[in-house]
Amino acid sequence: MNQLFEKLDDLYNEIIEIRRHLHQNPELSFEEVNTANYIAAFHEKLGHEVRTNVGGNGVLAFLKGEKPGPTVALRADFDALPIQEETDVPFKSNNDGVMHACGHDGHTATLLGLAKALNSMKSEIEGTVVFLHQHAEELPPGGAIDMINDGCLDGVDVIFGTHLQAQMPLGEIGYRSGPLQAAPDRFDIKIQGRGGHGAYPQDTKDSILIGGQLVSNLQQIVSRKVDPLESAVVSVCSFEAKGPYNVIADTVKLTGTVRTFKEEVRTFIEREIERVVRGTCIISDASYEYQYMRGYPTLVNHKEETEFIANIAKSVPGVEAVNETPPIMGGEDFSYYLQHVKGTFFFTGARNPEWDEAFPHHHPKFDIDEKALLIAAKVLGIATLQYMKNGTEILSTQEI
Ligand code: MN
Repeated sequence: MNQLFEKLDDLYNEIIEIRRHLHQNPELSFEEVNTANYIAAFHEKLGHEVRTNVGGNGVLAFLKGEKPGPTVALRADFDALPIQEETDVPFKSNNDGVMHACGHDGHTATLLGLAKALNSMKSEIEGTVVFLHQHAEELPPGGAIDMINDGCLDGVDVIFGTHLQAQMPLGEIGYRSGPLQAAPDRFDIKIQGRGGHGAYPQDTKDSILIGGQLVSNLQQIVSRKVDPLESAVVSVCSFEAKGPYNVIADTVKLTGTVRTFKEEVRTFIEREIERVVRGTCIISDASYEYQYMRGYPTLVNHKEETEFIANIAKSVPGVEAVNETPPIMGGEDFSYYLQHVKGTFFFTGARNPEWDEAFPHHHPKFDIDEKALLIAAKVLGIATLQYMKNGTEILSTQEI
């Protein structure tokens, strides 16, 4: 049996302990000071060269093998979400209103466990491993872009990363070459009508009515204007109008999100929303403010590195299925790394087969099967060793 796999099996309990510690002590995006300190201390104890405050709260740790070779970066994000946890786990969040509801605690525990395993195999390592611990994945502009500007990819030949998927069965690995995750954008609209007494609508410009029309008019963009063979989402996610029951609100605020894969569709929708807002407001003689904020770019996986991961995952104990996964409309700032270096981002199934229901990511009852962490560590670890030996060419894992 492969040496790396044995070492990771021995570290399994420690990986779980780390995950539970992080789960219990979640920190919001851009505020992850204690988490970053914890990660840095872990690597320092292993004797790794560590860089802290990389592009914000980011942490880089370097493991130099005893033989020369390429530089492989492995990325794990570590921020949590503004969600009140509603699970019954004994390691429930200690921080009110903050929860690791996307599995980033699991990503970080996976990478730390793997760092410890690889550290004990220095003589086998032909190159450098960069443990790229990224802050603030959940909140645009995100941590990746600042870490890149601060040099986190300097000298890196290839990057690999994974996301645990609570709704994908444990034992499954999902890969996809090309576009995997959409570009997540945001829009803010403010309708300025003229408020007034609900009894005398003729004296008002009814911003509530305009807002209502706008919600429905915006739905015509994807259904009537975008090619049905393209993928796009326009969702109005909040509608705010304040005031007493008998007063027509002066202003209405709408916010929402746009998801696309192609730049031309993205730009088209950005302009089309404004056209619809303008037209809807003209009918009622109201004015508006419109802001469109671009989030992360579309995540586009590189072909050779993706096929490499898909092939290598098949040799990992615990992996029962390696499937091409459909693209998803959720965004991910791993996309920025892939604009600079080759690599791939894949999904690791984390749904316990005995659960009746797997709650989605960002849900207050979100949870993962912790065995997925071991699988993720093995896939990332074996990919690192194999890549150092032969690039993306696949040989038998027994030879490592
Ligand atoms: Mn996430």
